[in-house]
Formats: sequence, C-alpha cells, structure tokens
Amino acid sequence: MPQFGPQIHNKSTNFHKINHKIMQQAKAYAAPSPKAPLAPWTFERREVGPHDVQIAIQYCGVCHSDIHQVDNDWFPGVFPMVPGHEIVGKITAVGSHVKKFQVGQLAGVGCLVDSCKQCENCDEGLEQFCLNGSVSTYNAIDKAGHITYGGYSNTIVVNEDFTLHISDKLPLAAVAPLLCAGITTYSPLRHWKVGKGHKLAVLGLGGLGHMAVKFGVSFGAEVTVLSTSPNKKEAALALGAHHFVVTSDEAQLAAVRGSFDFILDSVSAQHDVASFLSLLKVNGVHICVGAPSEPHIIPAFALVMGRKSVAGSLIGGLPETQEMLDYCAEHQIVSDIELIKMSEINTAYTRMIKGDVRYRFVIDMATL
Ligand code: NAP
Ligand code: ZN
Repeated sequence: MPQFGPQIHNKSTNFHKINHKIMQQAKAYAAPSPKAPLAPWTFERREVGPHDVQIAIQYCGVCHSDIHQVDNDWFPGVFPMVPGHEIVGKITAVGSHVKKFQVGQLAGVGCLVDSCKQCENCDEGLEQFCLNGSVSTYNAIDKAGHITYGGYSNTIVVNEDFTLHISDKLPLAAVAPLLCAGITTYSPLRHWKVGKGHKLAVLGLGGLGHMAVKFGVSFGAEVTVLSTSPNKKEAALALGAHHFVVTSDEAQLAAVRGSFDFILDSVSAQHDVASFLSLLKVNGVHICVGAPSEPHIIPAFALVMGRKSVAGSLIGGLPETQEMLDYCAEHQIVSDIELIKMSEINTAYTRMIKGDVRYRFVIDMATL
C-alpha cells in the first residue's frame, strides 16, 4: 500500500521505459469506478519477459487499503481497478533469465511489483521508499506505462526480484495476508526492536492488528490490545495478547495510563491519536501504520510531556518481507482468516468497514 498521493504516479515516468508485450487474457473482479461495487472483468496481462515469473493465483487477502483505494480515500485512483496485494499461488511459467524460481513452486507477491533498484533506499532493500517511486501491485503505472492490476485475478506476471518464496509447510490461504498485514506489522516491530521487557499496545484489532499481536507476543513483548469492540476480548487473548482494554471505557484506559513503550496504531478510520499518547511511558513511541484519509491533529503538549514520538511505517522492503515469511514458516505463524468466494467481496468490504472480520478475509481464487 505504498502510495499516498498521485505524485508517485508522476515520478514513475522518470523510469527508463521498458516495452512489455501485452498478450494474455486474465479474469478478475474490478471496481469500474470510484466507490462502485466490484464486478467480473477481463483484461490483459503482459507476456512473461526474460526476468518475469507468472503465477496462477490461488488466494488473495483483502486489505483495508483495497477499500481506501476503491473509494479514492487517498488520491484519485485508476479505474477499472483490480485490487489485491496479498497474493499467493503456484508458478506456471518463468522467463529465460529467471534464476530464483522454477515452475511448480509456490510464490507470493505483496504491495510492490517494481522500483528503480538504483537509489540509496532500493540499495538498502527499502524499495517501499524508492526515491524514484516504487510501482504498486495495482492502481499504479508501471515502467512501460501500463496500469498495474492486482490479485483479485487468476494470474499475475511479476519481475522475479519482486516475487517472494513461500513455504509449503504452512496453510497457503492463511499465508496470503502475510504479504501485506504481516510485513506491515513485522517491519516496525523489528525497526524499533520491540521485544522482551517492552509493553506493546496494539490499537485496532483487524487484519494488521491481529498480526501485530502475534508478532509482538512472538518477539517476547507484553501485549495489550486497545479496541473499540468489547466482543473481541476472548479472541484477542486467544491470539496471545496478555491484556485487553476497551477504548470507550475511561476506567480501563486510566488503568493503563503511562504504561506502554510502544503503541502500534492500525486503525483504518479517523481517530484521536493525541488521546492515546497519554498511555505511553516517557520516550514512548506511537507508530502509525493505519492510514485514515484525514490528518491526525497532535497538540505539542501531547508530545513534550514525556518526550513522546509519533512515527509511521510503510509495509516493508523485499528482503525484510522474505525474512518475515521465513520467520513465520519457522515459528508457524499465519493469519487467522475467513475464506470467501470472489462473489462475496462486496459483502466482505461492508463487513470490514464495520470492523466485523476475524481477522482477514481471503479470497479463494478457485471461485473466480
Ligand atoms: P481492518 O482489518 O479493517 O482493521 C482496522 C481496525 O481498526 C478494525 O478492526 C477496528 O478494530 C479498528 N477501527 C475501525 N474503524 C474504527 C473507528 N472508526 N474508530 C476506531 N477504531 C476503528 O483494516 P486493516 O487491513 O488491518 O488496515 C488497517 C489500516 O492500515 C488501514 O487504514 C490500511 O489502509 C492501513 N494499512 C497500512 C499499511 C502500511 O504500510 N502502513 C499497510 C496495510 C494497511 P477494533 O474493532 O479492535 O477497534
Ligand atoms: Zn495492504
């Protein structure tokens, strides 16, 4: 979900142009226009180039960013839009120069399908912060000037450098959300070295939030879920969280004031970030990964009282995404999912907006 403005579309025109041949028919579900229900659609994928792999998509997770983009919450999108950036499936073809993948292997694609590979951020494996504008898996323009289409489709063709290895030891459908919800929570927890001795609060228990709980617990932190939904308490504790606080309950909030080293904020809608800063210890960090369309308002006093920081984090680069996938395979971490048919996508969006998903919808592409 790396784009937060149309400027990245413009930057992508700085790329050296590549001419991909566009040839193969793909089936998909697309939003024909902003805020419109998704419906069946066909389009063309490029031919497999020398450095490309082609994946028959088996499962695709449904991220709240898909809803933000269909709704034009962040910037004017490109329509028809085929969302989906939590993609897993089997490789059906590889280009002549592909070294890392073979036909028949499992593979994944997350939020990025290209970047300049030359700037200092790309050099460091932080392709999500590519100085020349990385290319998002959908709702973007690639180096050839073509619109990118995401994973609510039967097939995708991707450069091997933006393709991930997927373990066959984990249930594949539950691996799909790791490609966005997983890396988006793993990366900041690693960056801020969250672990033993830390008290971590996870604000919002949805797709990202439940992965943050799993990683936080796995890294050794004491984890508290801060939620608007009292009915998620049992499930939160079952996920491994040590404590559960209902954010509408003043007494419960007062009991945790000044207690957290970190708050990982995964809330998708407008909310009062400043009101949560009082829950941080001195030097505490409030890490925003949720991306509501409206700006947060943070009074200076909410920060200066206790030397607090409000920070942000965007998905993760390719090396760290592979590291996260390998960590999950080693530690048997996957997403808790509700498997849906492709035709159920519009109901899934409605339920997600209400916070009613335990905890990630994943589309079974066999139903497309
Ligand atoms: P999600 O599954 O819908 O979860 C969001 C959670 O936020 C809900 O389950 C709910 O938790 C809480 N929430 C929803 N509406 C709320 C409101 N009005 N007030 C307070 N809390 C509310 O969404 P997601 O897929 O995890 O994505 C969450 C956000 O992260 C989205 O904005 C998405 O675009 C963004 N995102 C960012 C990145 C990145 O790289 N930074 C990557 C992916 C997604 P409770 O019921 O527990 O309160
Ligand atoms: Zn996402």
